[in-house]
Amino acid sequence: MIQKKMCILGAFAVGKTSLVRRFVSTIFDEKYLTTVGVKIDKKTISVDGQELMLLLWDIEGQDVYHTVQTSYLRGASGYFLVADGTRGDTIAAAIDLKNRMEEQAGRIPHLLLINKSDLKESWEVEQEDLNVLSESGMEIRITSAKTGEEVEEAFFTLAGKMLR
Ligand code: GDP
Ligand code: MG
Repeated sequence: MIQKKMCILGAFAVGKTSLVRRFVSTIFDEKYLTTVGVKIDKKTISVDGQELMLLLWDIEGQDVYHTVQTSYLRGASGYFLVADGTRGDTIAAAIDLKNRMEEQAGRIPHLLLINKSDLKESWEVEQEDLNVLSESGMEIRITSAKTGEEVEEAFFTLAGKMLR
């Protein structure tokens, strides 16, 4: 079976672990939990009739910038950039991580997820900001690890790009 490594990048507490957990086991845990190091989850999916084992690399802890300079990214076929719609600055952090990623791995498939769509009433991110990003070539999904909105779709879309 084909195996592909997918990295989950983004600022602290944007919902990286929650999104992986939602995708892998379709549950959402409100409890705030942080651990140290890197967590690797596996999930086998079928894309275009092809079995694919995804290795989902999730950075734990606050020091995402340091982690991105290490072997975390090596061998990745694609990655998510995750931002939190209720914290506008997490978009800038995601773009910064993308630039670092491209220094290390070149241009590989990626998607920007603006997470916490269930909290839209307290969003800081404007549609206008998203339009500017889209026009610059960034593919974006609006997700919620809490309700599951767009989560499966995002993982399947990225997986499809990684196989191409
Ligand atoms: P990480 O640091 O990026 O891995 O973020 P976590 O997955 O640990 O989530 C940080 C916090 O945001 C936790 O309290 C989660 O329960 C919460 N959270 C994550 N995703 C969502 C979401 O889509 N909606 C809401 N309302 N809360 C979320
Ligand atoms: Mg986490």
